[in-house]
Order: sequence, then structure tokens, then C-alpha cells
Amino acid sequence: YTRIYLHERPVADITPTTFKSEQLPLSSLVPGENEVLVKVHWLSLDPAMRGWLNDKRSYVPPVKIGETMRAGGLATVIKAGPGSELKEGDVVSTRPGMRCWTEYAVVKTKDCEKLVYPKGANMLDFLGALGMPGLTAYFGLLHVGAVKAGDVLVVSGAAGAVGSLVCQIGKKKGAKVYAIAGGKEKCKWLEEEVGVEKAFDYKDPKWKEEFKKVGYLDVYFDNVGGETLDFMLTRLKVGARIPLCGAISDYNNPHPKGLSGYMNLISQRAKIEGFIVFDYAKEYPAAISEMASWLADGTLKRKFHIVEGLDNAPKALPMLFTGGNTGKLVVKVSDP
Ligand code: NDP
Repeated sequence: YTRIYLHERPVADITPTTFKSEQLPLSSLVPGENEVLVKVHWLSLDPAMRGWLNDKRSYVPPVKIGETMRAGGLATVIKAGPGSELKEGDVVSTRPGMRCWTEYAVVKTKDCEKLVYPKGANMLDFLGALGMPGLTAYFGLLHVGAVKAGDVLVVSGAAGAVGSLVCQIGKKKGAKVYAIAGGKEKCKWLEEEVGVEKAFDYKDPKWKEEFKKVGYLDVYFDNVGGETLDFMLTRLKVGARIPLCGAISDYNNPHPKGLSGYMNLISQRAKIEGFIVFDYAKEYPAAISEMASWLADGTLKRKFHIVEGLDNAPKALPMLFTGGNTGKLVVKVSDP
């Protein structure tokens, strides 16, 4: 079987030598006590993976050199070890902490969750609305952003996995939603399919002038950081909230610039707050049930950008940093 591992830590952008692959005998994978051997079908590619490649303190330890690349995935149990609660044929999602850039893996039973399909859901939804992107959008917007009906909500990275769901949850909660994304195609999709009031292409040099016509905002859901965040700091209403979800514009940058607009937080008595979705684990069931109800009634739009083949994962991951994806980026490793 093939596995892909971290070969060297990138200094800035991911390069062709960041990852390497190798073939290993499947017979070397034997599940022990409370472990299972799984066949991987789908992998989630996430911007956070770039951070895991740095040898720096974060919310999870860095991936080690030589270690199979970490990712969340969807897989079938091929063989269950002694004492395992899972059995052969069970389809599971593996926690994002698992090392899933591989065709087969031995994982601990406690790191797998058997998929239970709510009405209207399909397998990939467990990497989308019912998985990490959905939960991030849900808790970031509703708990950290405390969005309410009538709020002006601005979302950056809006055509991505998290952003496109934030836009839709915002609309459902009665906010007026404005989107920011790279390129005309994405803006068109956001306006016509996702249904935002207006989408702004941040690659257009005149977008900030255009944006000023919106007036001021109550919630800015930040996926990108950097210059866009700095500009949004000048567009706050009194009491505005900024859920700091991500800062993808700086993930490849070894020397991120600071913010100059932060003093607006004082004059507008505004709040900026970082969060990590895992902090809400106890509340996932309630969020999943609300998201599932929107899948069931067909009102939640989901979009996946599918890359075929494990071997293409190293080339696909950098797409997140060039904006090559619309919706959730996933890799298909094998048929379920
Ligand atoms: P996306 O599907 O949104 O993909 C990333 C997108 O970011 C790209 O498509 C691209 O879109 C945009 N982008 C890339 N580079 C830049 C740049 N320099 N400036 C502006 N936009 C850029 O990824 P996710 O939805 O999975 O993640 C979105 C954000 O949420 C990330 O920052 C991620 O780290 C964060 N996150 C945080 C979590 C938490 O718990 N706090 C959990 C999960 C995700 P475009 O074409 O529009 O530029």
C-alpha cells in the first residue's frame, strides 16, 4: 500500500519535496487491542495542515519528519483487533488527528466514529456540513460572532468550505450577508447560488472603495487575516464582533505583518476572539442536528472540489493557498 509522509518542513510555500511517498506491505499492518485496520476512501484537505508542518507550538503537536501526513478521513474497517467496538464493514470518520495520507492504516477505535447518516445526508457531508467545516462555521458564527437577525455580516474566504457555510447560516439567522472571495467566478457563485447580498472580489484593486458603500458591519467572520482583516477593522459598528477563524493569507508567510487598524477595536468597543472548533466538542450533537435538518429540507447548499487519487494529495494541498478550490477540498483515495 502507499503512504505519504512529511519529508522536509517548508519554509514558506509547500514544495514538491515537502512530502514523499513509499510502498509498504499490507501484511505489516496488524490491528492490536482496541485498534482497527481501515481502508481509506476520502481525505479532508485543510488550511490548518500548513501549520502542522511548522515546528512551532500550536493547538496540536507538529507532524514529525517521516510521519504519515495527518488528516481527517472517511474509511471502512477491514479488520478489527481484539476488544474493538467496531467490526468489519463499519464505515467511520477518523478524527483530524489521525494520519490518513495512506491507503490503509491501523487506528485506535477511540479515534474513529461510526457514521450515522441523518436524513438527506451523504458520505461526503461528514467532511463538509456535518464535519469540521460545518462545525467551525456554526460555532464561530453563532457562539463567537453571536450573529442575530438584522446584523450586517461580512465573511472572507467566502467561497471556501467554512466560508460558504457561514454565509448560509448567517442568512438563515436573518443577517444581511456580504461575501469576500478571490475572482469573478467565485463572486458569481456566491451571489447566484449561495445567495449573499453582494460578493466582493478582493483581487480587484477597487474592491475596498466599492465595499465602503455597504456601510459598517456587526460581525466580520475572518478566514483570511492580513490586509483584509486590517481593512475590516476600519468598518466596525459599535459593539462589532470578529470571530478569528483563520488567517490563511499569512500561513505561508514566515514573517507576517502586524495590523495597523487594531485601535478601532477601542473606539468601537468591539471584540475580536480566536477560537478552535474542537473546544465545542460537547455541543457538536446539537449543531449536527440543526445542520442535518437543513440538509434534509434541501436548504443548505454544499459544494465539494474532488481531487482523484492519494498520489495527488501533495499537489492538491497548495490549491487552498492559491484559491484553486470552491467549496470543500477533498481527495478520493478509493471507492467506498
Ligand atoms: P477554504 O475551503 O476556504 O480554502 C481556502 C481558501 O482561502 C482558498 O480557496 C482561497 O480562496 C482563500 N485564500 C487563500 N490564500 C488567500 C489569501 N492570501 N488571501 C485571501 N484569501 C486566500 O478552507 P477552509 O474553509 O477549510 O478554511 C477556511 C479558514 O478557516 C482557514 O483560515 C482555516 O485555517 C480556518 N479554520 C479554522 C478552524 C478553527 O477551528 N478555528 C477550523 C477549520 C478551518 P480565494 O480564491 O477566495 O482566495
